[in-house]
Amino acid sequence: MTAENVVKCSVNTCSYWKDMRCHAPSIEVSSKVMPAKTSAETECTTFKPK
Ligand code: SF4
Repeated sequence: MTAENVVKCSVNTCSYWKDMRCHAPSIEVSSKVMPAKTSAETECTTFKPK
């Protein structure tokens, strides 16, 4: 299974993004601050600019 099957994403400036889904083999999500308390305090560290 790849991220394409399970990860919806709206970051259309990422090179893995296509058709509102992530096409990376896998992704890593990290906290921007510790401890993260909202989704805004997390981020996809697999993001790669186009
Ligand atoms: S790598 Fe992260 S930002 Fe890029 S398409 Fe996948 S989930 Fe979205």
